[in-house]
Amino acid sequence: MLLWMLACTSEPPAVVVPDEEADADADPDVPEPEPEPDPEPQFCRNVPNDAEGACWHSFGGLYADGACSESYQCCDGAFGALGSCGECACTEPTGHEGCVPAEAGTEVCFAPYTHTVEPLPTALRDAMAGTTYEEGCPVGLDALALITTAHWGFDGEPKTGQLVVKADLASVYVDVLQHAWQVQFPIERIEPASAYGGSDDASMAVNNTSAFNCRPVTGGTSWSQHSYGHAIDVNPRQNPYVSASGNTVLPPEGAPYVTRDPSVPGLIVDPGPVVGAFRRHGWGWGGSWNSLKDYQHFSENGL
Ligand SMILES: [Zn+2]
Repeated sequence: MLLWMLACTSEPPAVVVPDEEADADADPDVPEPEPEPDPEPQFCRNVPNDAEGACWHSFGGLYADGACSESYQCCDGAFGALGSCGECACTEPTGHEGCVPAEAGTEVCFAPYTHTVEPLPTALRDAMAGTTYEEGCPVGLDALALITTAHWGFDGEPKTGQLVVKADLASVYVDVLQHAWQVQFPIERIEPASAYGGSDDASMAVNNTSAFNCRPVTGGTSWSQHSYGHAIDVNPRQNPYVSASGNTVLPPEGAPYVTRDPSVPGLIVDPGPVVGAFRRHGWGWGGSWNSLKDYQHFSENGL
């Protein structure tokens, strides 16, 4: 049995009936309209085991009890350690239709991941000027791109975020964000740092995930790796920066997460889905550094 979670709620494609009169009048110089692109392929999995009592989220994601998703989200929307979610009630606290029970061998398809990549729009360039970008920054605005991406929120709802990145690395970011979507790794919000006046502290204070920000390195004067668009901070509250002495935790709201508990939603662990996705592209994680720890930080060059 194949469950097309979202497909069954969307309208069937309109049937186009050729109009011969219109064709006769058509200007031969006007090119044919481009055919509609195929929809994004859905991400499908087989339910592995009846005994696991797996249920599936109405958005198409996995909400299972014995077989939690990689981000450990359970049927009731809570998060827990892998395999610890207990009985699956197949209802959701958010008022949605709820999970549907799935038998072993059932193929269930996730909501398709959606994203776009585009050059920086004029309004965003204007917002970046004097906040996250100035003359003399190591990467110019034309070398950056804006990713608009789907992501799961901490409330279990699908959301849309925007990330400014180095254009030639956009495919890496998109691949990681797609993987985070597929395993329902929750990300609180994704907004350009210019929305916070370029203040990393203000961005971290609301648990914002961001990439490009032309600014000095934390606690120093040289350019941060974020100034190059090849670094990203993910869920900074659950994944704080912790100085070597342990005396500085940024953001301060991240203090409860200095002691790493893998069952905390949105917390980055190794092994885990976010570290694994970046590692496949050769990127480094600040949580693996020896002295200071920057659990939110991933970069192309490992710095
Ligand atoms: Zn960082």
